[in-house]
This record gives sequence, C-alpha cells and structure tokens, in this order.
Amino acid sequence: MKTIEQIAAELQGYDPQALSAERVNQFLAHLVDPVTATETVGVFEALGRVLAQDVVSPISVPPHDNSAMDGFAFNGALLQAGQALTLQLAEGTAFAGKAWSGALASNQCVKIMTGAIMPAGLDTVVPLEFVKVEADQLTIPPDVLRLGDNRRFMGEDLMAGQPALRQGQTLCPAALGLIASLGLPKVNVFRRVKVAYFSTGDEILSLGEPLREGAVYDSNRYTVFGLLTRMGVEVIDMGVIKDEPAALEAAFRQAALEADAIITSGGVSMGEADHTKAMMKQLGDVAFWRIAMRPGRPMAVGRITENSKSAVLFGLPGNPVAVMVTFLAFVRPALQRLMGSSASEPVLLKAHSGEALRKKPGRTEYQRGIVCRAADGSLQVRTTGNQGSGVLRSMVEANGLIVLHHGQGNVAAGDEVDVMMFDGVI
Ligand code: AMP
Ligand code: MG
Repeated sequence: MKTIEQIAAELQGYDPQALSAERVNQFLAHLVDPVTATETVGVFEALGRVLAQDVVSPISVPPHDNSAMDGFAFNGALLQAGQALTLQLAEGTAFAGKAWSGALASNQCVKIMTGAIMPAGLDTVVPLEFVKVEADQLTIPPDVLRLGDNRRFMGEDLMAGQPALRQGQTLCPAALGLIASLGLPKVNVFRRVKVAYFSTGDEILSLGEPLREGAVYDSNRYTVFGLLTRMGVEVIDMGVIKDEPAALEAAFRQAALEADAIITSGGVSMGEADHTKAMMKQLGDVAFWRIAMRPGRPMAVGRITENSKSAVLFGLPGNPVAVMVTFLAFVRPALQRLMGSSASEPVLLKAHSGEALRKKPGRTEYQRGIVCRAADGSLQVRTTGNQGSGVLRSMVEANGLIVLHHGQGNVAAGDEVDVMMFDGVI
C-alpha cells in the first residue's frame, strides 16, 4: 500500500493546488487496491456483482447444429443459380427437443421447427413462407437462398473450453442469462465492497428536525446513498456528524473499521474553520486538493486507519451538485476499481450545443445538460439554466453532464460537445 507522498512522487506534474481531473483519476488508481476476497453466489444473486474469475464454458452453446427458422431442411448443394428447386417431402417433423431420425434420399427434405437438431446430412433450411407445397412436393423459387442459410452451428454462441465471460466483468442481465445457458447454477464473484458515508457541518439538519435560520436539510446523504446503491455496493449510512472533534473522531474511527471506503461531504474547502479537515489529518494519511474543475474544486483524499484496518477516504465538497459531480468523475471509477471491476470509462456522447457556452481553458467543467433529438434528427443538448453548484434541481432535470474538457475554450451554438449520459451510469 503506497502512501500519499509516494503516489505524489510518482505522478508527473502533481500539484495539489491545481490538479487536473485526469490527474485526479490517475492518483486514485494508485491509491485504490482492488478487493481480493471472493464468494460463490447463485445466478439470481449475481446481478451487478463483479466476476472474480473467467467463466469457462463447460459445454457448447448451442450443443448441436440446429434450425434458425420454421421451414424445411434439405441438402443445400442442390441449389443452382437461376433455377427453382423441387424436393420430395419426407414423413414426419424435426421438433425442438425431439430429433428427427430417418434415412433420406438426396432430393428429400424434412419439415423442421426453430431450434430442432438438423437431420444428418442436411445443412440448409428454407423458411415456410418461401415455398410452395403441393401434396408431398415442395418448390423453392430461384435465388432466394444460399447453401447453409438458416442453420445455426453448434458452439456458434459459445464453444466448450472457451472463456464465456472475463474476470472483472460486472454481471448484467445478459450475462446472467449467458451463465444460465451454460448450465452453471453459481458463479465466483468478488465480495461486496462496503462504503460508509456521512455529512458534516453544523448547519446541516437531518430529516425530522425543525428548520431553523441558516440551516439546510441534508440532501447529500440521500444522493450519495442513491449513487452508491446504484453501483451495487453495501452502504453504511452514518447520517450527519456534528462539527465537534469527539463526534468526528468517533465517526471516522468507526467508518475505517467497518468500511472499505469512506465518503464525507462538506468541510474540505479552503476557508473552512471547522474540525473535519483537522480530524482527517490526525487520523489518516490525507491530501487536500484544489482541482481544476467546476463544480467541485476542493476535495480531500487518502486513507483513514483504525486498529491497522484502513479505508480509502473521499472527502467531497459540501455543495449538493459538487458532491454528485465529483462522485461521477472520480469516486465512481475509483470504487469500480476497488470492486475488482475492469469497466472502462463511460462512453461520451456527441451532441450539438443548442447555445453558446462560456468556458475558460485550464479546468474541466461539468454542466447539467438535457439531450434531445432535434427536428433534423441530430442530437442536441441544452443546459438546465442556472449552473450554481448548490442547484440540485439542475441534476434532476438533466439527463447528462456536458463535459467541457480541460483545454477546451468557449463553445459556440451548434458546436459539438461531449456528454456523459446518466442512463446506464446512475
Ligand atoms: P462546505 O463544503 O462545507 O463549505 O459546504 C458548501 C455548501 O454546501 C454550504 O452552503 C453548505 O450548507 C452546503 N452543504 C454542505 N453539506 C450539505 C448537505 N449534506 N446537504 C445539503 N447541503 C449541504
Ligand atoms: Mg461547511
């Protein structure tokens, strides 16, 4: 496990007072070590979990050549360009799960249903709707088919002995089905990651407390809960911690003992007169950053240790939008790494900006965007209006974040911009 100082020394251009968003992610990749413990779970329980080892296919899927259509199976070598083909219909039908076994003359065909095993020697299926059948004779019109059409090969989906899924893959609904298609009732996954989170600040009220002057209700507790839950981690909800050394110390110690990662919000900005930063410093190995980004900027990162058990710390700023944006930009990829996931960054969408956007080069901006399809069919994005880092409504109205990259300058109306869509991410 490397110290903050060691990681900092390895990173070129590391300046805690002016870190680019890219550098932050590089730093976190050094700070976070993936979990190693694994467990075996049933297929239903595996949704959203991360595979701890490759799943090697014990069988071939499909296990035999079969028909992709309802139709008639025949010997495709009989097809000739520009000519109709007449075949004799054999007795019986090849059903899925009930093989047809019989002997055939070369010009005979067999009625076959989708998924049925191809009768021996036959390699092509003509769909029912293509043919004319009269008594026991069937005619295929010229040039509607080629040899091998509508036959699915054994092992076409998965071949026995080949890896069907790779370690590090997060199991999606399709992956669950794939595992089941191999006949496997269980899979080996990494243990679930535990993340403790709490809000700090004397002005922060828990739900149920009466509103008083200068105070605001704690919204970060709920957005962080939602973001973490969507990632499939186990959450340890610690509520609001008062800005008192004893309360903060107890909270950090408990979180470090119980969790793999700790997320706090509030109390990390430059001018903060509170005890949060002091306690982080006292109990852990922590760096305090100013990140060249908007919203966001202040963030504390490191490790808190209690009884030789340590947890990664993400000390996020307090502003509700800044919490969500720093989570998406930095915490989410870091937690994916912690979970053992090999997921790559979300694919950014390109959309035309519906308006001019002011942007200074030298920092990354994440504006709340609404992407929709314009009359001409192209993707357009407009902002939600007021981009204040406290305007949580902007996150609710948006369906993605417009990412204005570090080196990027002003955007003219109509220019293409990158958007990180929420769907599939949170
Ligand atoms: P701070 O980062 O502590 O300076 O907080 C920045 C702003 O975010 C202040 O206006 C706080 O009142 C607000 N804030 C901090 N924590 C929360 C929270 N848990 N829920 C809602 N607003 C918060
Ligand atoms: Mg504060």
